[in-house]
Amino acid sequence: MGISAVCLHTGNFAAIQLVPVKEIIASIITIGDELLIGQTIDTNSAFIAQQLNSIGIRVAKRVAVGDQETAIREALDNESTYADVILLTGGLGPTADDITKPLLCDYFGGKLRRDPATLKHIEWLFNEVYKRPGALLPRNQKQADIPDNCTILHNPRGTAPGMLFQKENRIYISMPGVPQEMKEIMTDSVIPFLQQNLKTPFIFHRTLLTAGIGESMLAEQLVNFEATLQPELKLAYLPQYGMVKLRITATGQDQLVLKQAIDSKFEELKKLVATHLVTDKDEKLEAVIGRLLSEKKATLSTAESCTGGLIASMLTSLPGSSNYFKGSIVAYANEAKENLLMVDYSTISTHGAVSEQTVQAMATGALKQLNTTYGIAVSGIMGPDGGTALKPVGTVWIAVANKSTTKVQCLKLGFDRQRNTHQTAISALNMLRQFILTESQD
Ligand code: ATP
Repeated sequence: MGISAVCLHTGNFAAIQLVPVKEIIASIITIGDELLIGQTIDTNSAFIAQQLNSIGIRVAKRVAVGDQETAIREALDNESTYADVILLTGGLGPTADDITKPLLCDYFGGKLRRDPATLKHIEWLFNEVYKRPGALLPRNQKQADIPDNCTILHNPRGTAPGMLFQKENRIYISMPGVPQEMKEIMTDSVIPFLQQNLKTPFIFHRTLLTAGIGESMLAEQLVNFEATLQPELKLAYLPQYGMVKLRITATGQDQLVLKQAIDSKFEELKKLVATHLVTDKDEKLEAVIGRLLSEKKATLSTAESCTGGLIASMLTSLPGSSNYFKGSIVAYANEAKENLLMVDYSTISTHGAVSEQTVQAMATGALKQLNTTYGIAVSGIMGPDGGTALKPVGTVWIAVANKSTTKVQCLKLGFDRQRNTHQTAISALNMLRQFILTESQD
């Protein structure tokens, strides 16, 4: 397993000195019946994996088990056969189904002892945070009973602290299932501990975003590039709604060499995808739009039918968007298009709500009503019903406009309702991006 450690006990805290290792492998065990019946989606593993990855620890496996003692023990035994670090979440609360703590205590051969500092923290939480003064219930007091062979990881937000055990050169970390509590323990205690005690490799990422080209076509274009990547560099394709993120990751022990290698390959990659490049940073399309608008001191409004405000929601998810985004008119019914965006009744009755003429009029209406530099308008049939032979489900018209010019585009999408909607929003934003860039070149 490639980890060699000497344990030095310093009071309650067991520090480890390690000889250099090539790769550190982790496994994540999530505990809870709710995960297995699909009631809770396991977001904890994703967060933990991201955190570990950022410090160069590879997650080899994620295992979910129910609230059964045998299942948890079996998972611990199995993961201990290969992983250097095993992280668990869930089952630490005050209820009967929370069996992780006594089980871990027994598994590592310890005894439960009341920890005064943890008890004080629980009392403080009940008195000052939950505002439930008075005597603690015995079940809450018991949360301060901690195995005497673990390091306590403070849980500022909750009553169940994290616990760190060490056995046969492996590190085991148990954290509460509540995502916010787990996240704080991870960032405040677990990551610093692992960085201090394990010789993790350096890891760098460089990410860019492309639009208007599919994953397969990109891969075809990049065959030769991929073949020339050094073994410590990896290229990942991350497709999402008509865009593809490309990420190069460099992992190794020599920081300087690694940094030079990744930077040089990233520049090469940028040139190869130049015609489709949206940004060479790890950022969303809406951030690129925000930057373009801010640079021009320009403003934007949207007139949204089939996206129901999604474009506005994406734009306003970014802090500072009030500097350039003025608002959206969600005009779903024809009546709303007429009354709120001043689209002529005759335009809709002659050409239909999903038509070039209607989106053009919607974009112009948004520009006027909200007095902005640019406007985006979308109208389409998202499905599953509502299509006709002439305008099948997936037909979408998009318009982008400034005060003198309007550009339109028709999409023929073939996905489900949710994906059609997202794809429309992304396409509309990308169309605006291209519109602004072309206008700047004129
Ligand atoms: P508590 O003190 O609340 O009992 P706990 O450590 O016992 O904490 P659980 O009871 O297993 O944790 O879960 C607490 C909450 O966290 C539940 O709402 C559960 O749905 C959620 N949760 C548990 N595991 C995960 C996970 N892997 N991903 C996302 N949410 C989770």
